[in-house]
Order: sequence, then structure tokens, then C-alpha cells
Amino acid sequence: MAETRVAVIGAGMAGLACARRLSESGVAVTVFEAEALPGGRMRCHACEALLVDHGAQYFTASDPRFRSWLTEQLGAGRVTQWHGRIVVLREGAAETADFRMRYVGVPNMESAISSLAGGIDLRLGSPVASLRREAGETELIDADGRSLGRFRSVAVAVPAQQAATLLADIAPALAGDARQAPLSPCWAVMLGFRDRLRVGFEGAFIEDGVLSWIARNDAKPGRDGTETWLLHAAAGWSEEHRDKPEAEVAAIMTDAFLRAIGRQDITPDVSLIHFWPYAQPLAPLGKPCLYDPVLGIGACGDWCLGSRVESAYISGLELGDRLVALSEQDAATTRRAGAGQNG
Ligand SMILES: Cc1cc2nc3c(=O)[nH]c(=O)nc-3n(C[C@H](O)[C@H](O)[C@H](O)COP(=O)(O)OP(=O)(O)OC[C@H]3O[C@@H](n4cnc5c(N)ncnc54)[C@H](O)[C@@H]3O)c2cc1C
Repeated sequence: MAETRVAVIGAGMAGLACARRLSESGVAVTVFEAEALPGGRMRCHACEALLVDHGAQYFTASDPRFRSWLTEQLGAGRVTQWHGRIVVLREGAAETADFRMRYVGVPNMESAISSLAGGIDLRLGSPVASLRREAGETELIDADGRSLGRFRSVAVAVPAQQAATLLADIAPALAGDARQAPLSPCWAVMLGFRDRLRVGFEGAFIEDGVLSWIARNDAKPGRDGTETWLLHAAAGWSEEHRDKPEAEVAAIMTDAFLRAIGRQDITPDVSLIHFWPYAQPLAPLGKPCLYDPVLGIGACGDWCLGSRVESAYISGLELGDRLVALSEQDAATTRRAGAGQNG
């Protein structure tokens, strides 16, 4: 196949699924990731001897394409089933939530997508600040105005608000679509306890006005060490407390947690906090991905299809399919032009 250079911006689940689809079809692809490590919202928090999944907690699988990827990960031991007891906490009573199969990366969520990054040209610590069109190609520019390269096609695999900003000048229609699916924020608090709390479940959905989810991280398969709890605040509460000091937010969330488990007699030995500015889309677009075949530019991410790891994977794959088709079309055009010259 003639070389079609593709840039993928963002090395979360969507960007890596897209990049792998391209590279497995022989298309030259480079992934630019702002952070020092890939994974996006599947990254885990490593600090003060705690290693906690502070973004995605687990994933479920229904689409056969995602199930096929999952089967490979299960076989390689990078993912396993999570049989923890998951409940819904209402007014102090715990009811079993449901019996759906949940999966987690082992020993943390990051490992679930590590295989997607293998063998890919991945530029870490490379935030893309803007995009420029020139002579039928798209140039990626960094924050200092330096070129990161020119590409035939670009897949923007970042949260919707960030995608809209990058696409605003060169693909305003795609930017307008992306603006329809903004992601809400989420405060995450991680607590370590030297003494066992002896709570009768491993994860709980909560609707107390502050928290939405709590989970005992060290009880997930492949984890061990200090008893560690992860708390996620509700989307609306996180938005209202977006600009509050971290210490104030952590204190309110910790108090809500201890009340929920009926243990206001104890104090955590370690407390960490993280703010996700773009956590989960409230109203996904309902399209597999965004794509302009004339420009060779698209966008993908969970926000296109849903709010889960699976949606991100399928969206990345779908955009990858379109960019592979574009590359095949380019190759056919080049062949026809060559045949015309020779004939
Ligand atoms: C608190 C929380 C809880 C969640 N719980 C669950 C759950 O239990 N189950 C579930 O299935 N899903 C859950 N999710 C959602 C899940 O994490 C996402 O659906 C999925 O990880 C999204 O992948 P993505 O590739 O679309 O985006 P992201 O993971 O956000 O990846 C985007 C990547 O782009 C990079 N980037 C951004 N801007 C630039 C730029 N300008 N240049 C270069 N790189 C850039 C980012 O650093 C990031 O690595 C949760 C998410 C959060 C935050």
C-alpha cells in the first residue's frame, strides 16, 4: 500500500484502538500523547505507596468486536473478571446491584490497554496545541508554534471539548458536532487505611448528593497491600465544586464515605485527590465517530457512542476503518496515475 501518514492525537482507549487498526492494515501511524504515559482515563494514580484505579473502574463488553479484543486480553492475563460484590447503597441499606460480568485490568486498569500501544510510534509528552491545513495536508503544531509534522489524515482522539477546540479552525462542522457531547467533571478521592474497615461489599453505587461510586481498590483481582478506597463524586456535585480547594472537597467526600459505610469513628491514614475535568459525557452523540472524507480528518472517543471504555474502543475502531479505506483509495489513485504515465 502507498504510504499514507496518519497522526492520532491522544493515546487513550479510542486513540490506541484507532492506531492499532491502522498499523495492522499497514498504514504508517504516529500517536501524539500530551501526558508522560498512555491510557487517558484508564490511567491509575501512583502516589504515597498507593496505586489506585482513579478513573475507569471496570468495564463491560457487549459488542462482538470489543469481546474479541477482550478474549485476547483475558488469554494474555492482562484482564480478568471482577467477582467483587457490587451493591446499591440506599439509606444505609446495601442491595446487590446486578449480576453483569465486570472486567478489570491486572494489576491495574492501565495494563488493559498496554498491548494496544505495543509497536506503535508513540510520542509521549507531546501535546498538540493546534492544527493547520496546507497543500491538502494537516500540520500538527505544539504550544511553542513548532511543527510536529504534516499528515495526510488526522484522528483527534481526545475528550469532546478538547476535540472541538483543536478542530474549530480547520473543520468547523466536526467541531460543532463535538460541542454537542461535552463531558462532565469528576472529583476522585483515594483513601488508605492501615486497619481493615470490614465493609461487606467491594463496590457501591451511591446517590447521596455527594458521591456516585465507591470501591475497595485493593480487593480487585491482582491488587494487594493497604486497604484502599476510591470515591467518585457525582457529576453535578463535581461541577458545583469545580473551583473549591482540594482539602475542602476531600473532607466533604471522605465524610460522606464514612457515613455511607457507618464508620465515622475512623480517620484515613492516607488521603489523595484528583480532579478529572473531562470524565464522562452526559449525552453522547449517538454516532460511531466524526469524519470528513474530503479533509481526511476525524474524531473519536467514548463521547461519540456512550460513556464507557467499550464505547471508546468501538469509536476508535470505526474511525480506523474509515482511515484505512481512505488509505486504500489513495493507493488505488497512485496506481492508476502510475499506469497512466506508463501507458
Ligand atoms: C472518574 C471516571 C470513572 C469512569 N468509570 C468508568 C467505568 O467504571 N467503566 C467504564 O467503562 N468507563 C468508565 N469511565 C470512562 C472511561 O474511562 C472512558 O470512556 C475511556 O477511558 C475514554 O477513552 P478515550 O480514549 O475516549 O479518552 P481518554 O481516555 O480521555 O484519552 C484521551 C487522551 O488524549 C490525551 N490528550 C488530550 N488532549 C491532547 C492534546 N492536545 N494532545 C495530545 N494528547 C492529548 C489525553 O492525555 C488522553 O490520554 C470513567 C471515566 C472517569 C474519568
